[in-house]
This record gives sequence, C-alpha cells and structure tokens, in this order.
Amino acid sequence: MIVYDLSCDKAHRFEGWFSSADDFDSQNQDEQIACPVCGSVNISRQLSAPHFSTGATPSEPPQSNNTAVAGVSLEQMRRKFLEFVLNNSEDVGRSFPEEARKIHYEEEPRRAIRGEASRDEVQELREEGVEIFPVPELPEPPDQVH
Ligand SMILES: [Zn+2]
Repeated sequence: MIVYDLSCDKAHRFEGWFSSADDFDSQNQDEQIACPVCGSVNISRQLSAPHFSTGATPSEPPQSNNTAVAGVSLEQMRRKFLEFVLNNSEDVGRSFPEEARKIHYEEEPRRAIRGEASRDEVQELREEGVEIFPVPELPEPPDQVH
C-alpha cells in the first residue's frame, strides 16, 4: 500500500491509500476519489513530505548563550585592560588611599585614579565601602609617538 497526500481543486488536503500508483491513476480518472470535505472529484497528488513539521509542536525557546571570546590570549586582554587603566586614570601615587576616600565621600568629583596602597590601606578602604580594584603590576606606559 502507498499513501498519497491529495488535494482537491479547493485546496482541501487529505490522504488516500492505494495499492499502487496505477491504482491511484485509474481511480482518479474514473472519479472514484472524492474530497471528504467538499466532494470534489478534481483531485491531484501533492508532493509528499513525510518529515515536514507543520509547526504543531512548539519550538524550543532559544538557548541563552554566554558570550565567549576566541583568538585573543589572556595576556593580550590583560595588557589591553592595563593600557585602558593607564590611559583613563589619574596617577595620584602614594596619596591613592586619601584620594580614593575623597572621591568616595564626594569631596572631589568622581574620576578614575590609580596609585599605590598598602595591603592594610586596601583593607581599610574596602571596609569603608570604597570601590577599588587591585591591578597587577602596571606595564610602562606605551611610548607616546605623537
Ligand atoms: Zn475539497
């Protein structure tokens, strides 16, 4: 037995079972096949697409992907980060803890600074809620060619 996807001239679709392709042809010519919806005998075969999904099954929600980076080494990223820090912060040297506090308590306008702080000073600043980030040893500032 073979199954054909059939449709009438009004585009109603239904299935028909036949013993062979010739069986379908002869039944169709004799107008023995009628649309179950409208009774039309003007029937044609559709291309069967047994694995085609009609979308009745809801599609899976898109997976959320984590952003990933390839082709850049950690060392390159570290250098870029440090360059950014160097180019976008003011070097206040040993007065870093003092300056960081002033900015935190809004005694001075907010700005990016860098400088030195001892382990104890870093600890104190953090306990006061001052946002600071430890930076691995800074490379020499890139040569200014301009
Ligand atoms: Zn029909």
